[in-house]
Amino acid sequence: RAMAALLAVSEVNASMGRIVATPTAGSCGIIPGVFVSTQERFGWSDDEMTYGLFAAGAIGYVIANNSFVSGAEGGCQAEVGSAIGMAAGALAELRGGKPEQAVHAVGLALKNSLGLICDPVGGLVEIPCIVRNGFGAVTALAAADMALAGVRSVIPSDEVVQVMLEVGAAMPEKHRETAGGGLAQTPTGKKLMSELRKKGRPLRKAEDERGNAEA
Ligand code: SF4
Repeated sequence: RAMAALLAVSEVNASMGRIVATPTAGSCGIIPGVFVSTQERFGWSDDEMTYGLFAAGAIGYVIANNSFVSGAEGGCQAEVGSAIGMAAGALAELRGGKPEQAVHAVGLALKNSLGLICDPVGGLVEIPCIVRNGFGAVTALAAADMALAGVRSVIPSDEVVQVMLEVGAAMPEKHRETAGGGLAQTPTGKKLMSELRKKGRPLRKAEDERGNAEA
């Protein structure tokens, strides 16, 4: 059920529909996927979900003020990773965990995303972004389960956020949403872009320039 909800939201984003950036457009499916599925499962009211959103927002606020939340700045670890941390902490809170457990859920989730590069094919926030949201939701659900079962993030969440900052700052530009490396520059990634170019689909400026240079 989480997959269905998050894929729907991510697809709407990729087709230029209106979504809520949580914390960004590329990572917009994770919180809806986790929230919609768990609200159905546990029968929470919309008011309870609103408090969950406040918890997610507070976690995102802390991450944004101490590290990155965009792929262009810190790679996908910052974008999808932050969304996973926000969803995990909020879910631990919604399920009755103590604030300390919610924060451990954030740390457990973020640690599993460190180092993830941002490499969307053509910069179109579709491949691999949509399925990364799916795997992200699974991580968030697992992190909340672990924290509620008493698993702690031995490296405190604040320190994990600092590692995200360190890794993001060291990440080469080609792995920060420029579509200049990673999956975007695989033979298949380039072929897809070339086909879209031939169809006249508007591409991101950097990708257009890269295509012109190659031509
Ligand atoms: S690969 Fe980049 S654009 Fe896609 S979800 Fe991750 S950070 Fe966002």
